[in-house]
Amino acid sequence: MSSAASLTTLPPVIVGAGPAGIRAAETLVRAGLRPVLIDETAKGGGQIYRQQPDGFSRPAKALYGFEASRAEALHASWRALLDQVDYRPHTLVWNSEGGELDLLQVREQHYDGQPWQQLILATGATDRILPFQGWTLPGVYTLGAAQIALKYQATAIGSRVVFAGTGPLLYLIAYQYAKAGVEVAAVLDSAPFSAKLQATPAMLKGPAVFAKGLWYLGWLKARGIRIEYDAHLLAASGDQRLTAVRWRQQGQEQQLDCDGLGFGYALRSETQLADILDCRFQFDELNRAWLPVRDAMGRSSRDGVYLAGDGAGIMGADAAEWAGELAALALLQDSGRAVDATRVSQLQQQLARTRQFRQALEDAFPFPEQWVHEVADDVVLCRCENVTVGEARRLISELSLQDMNRLKAHSRVGMGRCQGRMCGLAAAELLAATSGQSVADAGRLRAQAPVKPLPYAIAPTVQQWSPALPVTAVAEEADHD
Ligand SMILES: Cc1cc2nc3c(=O)[nH]c(=O)nc-3n(C[C@H](O)[C@H](O)[C@H](O)COP(=O)(O)OP(=O)(O)OC[C@H]3O[C@@H](n4cnc5c(N)ncnc54)[C@H](O)[C@@H]3O)c2cc1C
Repeated sequence: MSSAASLTTLPPVIVGAGPAGIRAAETLVRAGLRPVLIDETAKGGGQIYRQQPDGFSRPAKALYGFEASRAEALHASWRALLDQVDYRPHTLVWNSEGGELDLLQVREQHYDGQPWQQLILATGATDRILPFQGWTLPGVYTLGAAQIALKYQATAIGSRVVFAGTGPLLYLIAYQYAKAGVEVAAVLDSAPFSAKLQATPAMLKGPAVFAKGLWYLGWLKARGIRIEYDAHLLAASGDQRLTAVRWRQQGQEQQLDCDGLGFGYALRSETQLADILDCRFQFDELNRAWLPVRDAMGRSSRDGVYLAGDGAGIMGADAAEWAGELAALALLQDSGRAVDATRVSQLQQQLARTRQFRQALEDAFPFPEQWVHEVADDVVLCRCENVTVGEARRLISELSLQDMNRLKAHSRVGMGRCQGRMCGLAAAELLAATSGQSVADAGRLRAQAPVKPLPYAIAPTVQQWSPALPVTAVAEEADHD
């Protein structure tokens, strides 16, 4: 594991102003440093504690429910940091080369660079998605996107909405929508009820989370909202936009009219920057994903790069706060400063307990392993490049493909604007099942810059800024805008 040079002339840089990044910044400020804190959004808080735009004034209780006091505490910390850090909102880190981060100032549409010697990556997560027929229809959203619409701008994805998939966010978001007055037509959980029963003893080790889950479920049931277990999404249908959803349950197909569908199967870590920075990865069974390796303090395999929060493995917001503080303490320690060993061990114990509980959540909301065997050939797998499941299956079989990057080269899966951030995990499941390997052996797509799409209008500037990035790659990204 890394041990950064003790003498640094540059301020530490933190990417991500969510729970992990804010606590990391706070810890560095407490030690007398003035870190650079970069986030592509307008305000600190990250996903769970996302703040409303200026001019919106819903109270914290309405926005964050049980998490209101935690959200307010984090926002207060963020505000207190503003004049003690070099804060860069609206700033996307899209690449890194030679000791410098490549930035896009989103509002000004301006490129910039940020040199670094010590870097904390706290980049969070997005939804883990598995495609199904019609998932590209207007009206179909991921669970996270459905929640962002509601939390950020008080907008619903439809007037009669179905939520489908699995994971704790499924019930939480259904509850938030119903509480906001939207008709929730059904909650379709792909996990069987028996999985939840079996996981109950282990879930009791996280009594607060367990109690909240029961509350959401009880609240939904008390209002007569339909909840189906072992329900597997088959199709979203409609001519121009979504009008109905179809699923299979115990061999029977069922259908329901709706004009909004939120779906997702828990979360996946945003690991692209760690990959571009050459951090070592290994397969993590709990997350069913390749993740950057970190030691018990959050040090990556690369000197000066530290990892914290959901971006290094899904652990939730409390754990993200602890991991952010811990990564900052590691950075301070590596800079030759004394850190409080008792606090380090307390944070490590809290994180170890959370990881144990995380297994219970995985058992209660298991990954739907049958998806890969049941998904139809005509389903679009990679929407950027319009590659179907059938086309990918055919190439894997005909060319005996074994590796994700070979699949990408031959099929263009993951080569479009999302760079595999959306389709990558589903493609890995498909490659593993079709080639008879484990998901771990199927490997992972190597991250490529830009990690998120850049605007076409300023493609020539990017060329100037980063000559290593071919202008065709930029234009190709932009073709989809
Ligand atoms: C859409 C969504 C909704 C969620 N809702 C809930 C919820 O209601 N309740 C709950 O308990 N958990 C929720 N979670 C999970 C929860 O958000 C996380 O466990 C927690 O926020 C993790 O904190 P973090 O600091 O690691 O990451 P995040 O809170 O995700 O923060 C990461 C930050 O990094 C920034 N960032 C990422 N990449 C870049 C880049 N390249 N350049 C610049 N900035 C970048 C992002 O803008 C973001 O602000 C949600 C997750 C998602 C994805």
